[in-house]
Amino acid sequence: MPVQFDDVPIGDAYLTHEAVRAVLGRQDNRCAGCGAPLDAVSTYFDLRRPVICGGPHTLGNLMALCPSCHQNHMHRIREIFADHRR
Ligand SMILES: [Zn+2]
Repeated sequence: MPVQFDDVPIGDAYLTHEAVRAVLGRQDNRCAGCGAPLDAVSTYFDLRRPVICGGPHTLGNLMALCPSCHQNHMHRIREIFADHRR
């Protein structure tokens, strides 16, 4: 039985090696946004659903993105955040 990582809380400041491997393994080392292959130096880890929008701070809510999908994701979150404050 593989370890169930989805409910494991993740730290604010850093990801453990195990967390990184779990997320990349789940995504088959591909970007969650566009499916491009990921490599260690250009992989970004983002919360699928941001904490400010009620997302849990757990591995199940984490995804690995390539640099361009990371940019898009951050952009979208800023827009969501702006809407929330209106
Ligand atoms: Zn991508």
